[in-house]
Amino acid sequence: MTNEKMKNGIWVFGDLRHERLFRFSLNVLAKAVALSRLEGLKTVMVFLGAPDDAVQSPNHTGAVSLEIASREAFVHGADRVCVLENDQFMTPLCDIFAEALAATVKQHAPMLMLFALTDFGREMASRAARICHAGLMADCVDLQIAGDRIVGLCPAWGGEIMAEITYVDGHGTGFATVHPQIQTHGDAFKGEDRVTDELIERITVQMDLDVSRPRLLSRSPEPAEHRKLEEAEIVVVGGAGLGNMEGFGLVRELAAAVGGEVAATRPPVLLHWIDEDRLIGQTGKSVRPNLLFSIGTSGAIQYTAGITESKTIVAVNRDANAPIFQVADLGIVADAKTLLPLLTTRAKQVVMRKLADELSHGKKTTDEQGSFGAKIQKIRKSRDWTVEALAKATGQTPEFMALVESDKMSPPVSFLLRLAGALDVDPGTFLSREEQTAIRDQRAQAFIKRTKSYSYETLTPGAEESHLRAFMVTIESHHAHKPVEYRHEREEFIFVMEGDLQFVLGGKPHVLKKGESIHFNSDIPHKLKSLSNEPTRCLVMLYTVSGYLNENRRPLLCSSGFLPRLRI
Ligand SMILES: Cc1cc2nc3c(=O)[nH]c(=O)nc-3n(C[C@H](O)[C@H](O)[C@H](O)COP(=O)(O)OP(=O)(O)OC[C@H]3O[C@@H](n4cnc5c(N)ncnc54)[C@H](O)[C@@H]3O)c2cc1C
Repeated sequence: MTNEKMKNGIWVFGDLRHERLFRFSLNVLAKAVALSRLEGLKTVMVFLGAPDDAVQSPNHTGAVSLEIASREAFVHGADRVCVLENDQFMTPLCDIFAEALAATVKQHAPMLMLFALTDFGREMASRAARICHAGLMADCVDLQIAGDRIVGLCPAWGGEIMAEITYVDGHGTGFATVHPQIQTHGDAFKGEDRVTDELIERITVQMDLDVSRPRLLSRSPEPAEHRKLEEAEIVVVGGAGLGNMEGFGLVRELAAAVGGEVAATRPPVLLHWIDEDRLIGQTGKSVRPNLLFSIGTSGAIQYTAGITESKTIVAVNRDANAPIFQVADLGIVADAKTLLPLLTTRAKQVVMRKLADELSHGKKTTDEQGSFGAKIQKIRKSRDWTVEALAKATGQTPEFMALVESDKMSPPVSFLLRLAGALDVDPGTFLSREEQTAIRDQRAQAFIKRTKSYSYETLTPGAEESHLRAFMVTIESHHAHKPVEYRHEREEFIFVMEGDLQFVLGGKPHVLKKGESIHFNSDIPHKLKSLSNEPTRCLVMLYTVSGYLNENRRPLLCSSGFLPRLRI
């Protein structure tokens, strides 16, 4: 590299407003260090602060002190730290910072002045570059040195291509905003802790501030509620592949089932399926969950830039060649609209099964996901239920719910069964594998016996293992229905298709006419008789909720009058 300016090295703006933002600056610094070493240049990290801040924390929450920041800069490979000081720098304001930085850049003429790509970095870079009449490369995902030129790789044409951009010759310092998760290609600098005041240059900046400039009246930390996404352990991201608002609802349901946060790529945000604060990527948020589902997303670099720090990425896309599979740890080629309901059901079952185990074993211990009460609370919150709503859904009082959530009380099994109903989870989930097999066998035998009876025509062939079965029953004119030799446990539903039906339930007679129906507990003895001159035809639905058995093979809840909804 021959340009005279090169000898002044690469400067990186250090954003001290928050630890997370400072980490972004350090990532950019790492890239600057890697480039500098190739060319034998020096790397300088620049901070702005009030003189009194030099060794202590600035006065706002979460900010990084200059002392800590300087040490980190050296540890990450900076050769020098430059602190621009002025009383006005106590509060970080883009216009003032940009003006001061531009003046210093003009004076020292570094080869490059880099900023992490954040709202603040973007604004500062453009302001300072304008003041310096310098070129600005925006949104670089990588920086390289090619011959005697700096080349920035920047997404262009809506992310369709990666443009290689460089500066016009003779325009002094080159400004660039750089993606905070920029890759340093392996060797991050493992610098020894060599913080020393000798390498810290303090420059007092004189500023003549315009009295009419905008002022900051107040500032408050971002509410924890807004940070939920960045701090979430599980994130479910939906993309354009979900098709519409309804399709995107499947992503919300999966997120609720796994206790995760919902997020999106740009198209769902632009289409108003979800709020903008849930956007992931270069112009949105960066997340670092343990588990991230990326559903119906192609994997554009502007999006993946926000998910690279996730521990495990599971991608679902119907196109096996989608680029998202290149960043995913687990790729599923499937139609999201078919897969998501299955995934959600399975996730809910796993959660409910764990709760049931914990309740039945009376476990008081906490695992990595918290106590029983904490898990209930998590389920409630993931579905945006209030304590009152959960109490209503489970037939309890809000006071009772509060005791359960604080682990002061173990709920009855009926609570879990009702919770399962509210979450639309098959209560059969609560049974062990052996119990499920035993019940399936019983059900299959009953089915065979029943279908042997001459008057039954099954409408659900092959459904002997299913919870829901249907028959067409024909009863000869003025005849009673032939009694069957077994009793079906759980629910039954009869709809009269033709003729009149006498139906005696627990000794109490009812008359059902064509088009009328009855829904009852099959445990109660019942008899059917045709009252017509023609045969009476009825549609009979049997519903066995396998989880409604206790150790004596009796329904758990029928005695308390609870019957689950019958869905047809
Ligand atoms: C400067 C700039 C900044 C940007 N910043 C961001 C940003 O911060 N965040 C961001 O997200 N984008 C950003 N973008 C836009 C980005 O380039 C992409 O256009 C966007 O990420 C694409 O979103 P997508 O993957 O959801 O949609 P698409 O690219 O349209 O992909 C949809 C995917 O869904 C799949 N699919 C379709 N139907 C189904 C189905 N039924 N089941 C399963 N899969 C299905 C398709 O095969 C396809 O791969 C930016 C662009 C520019 C130029």
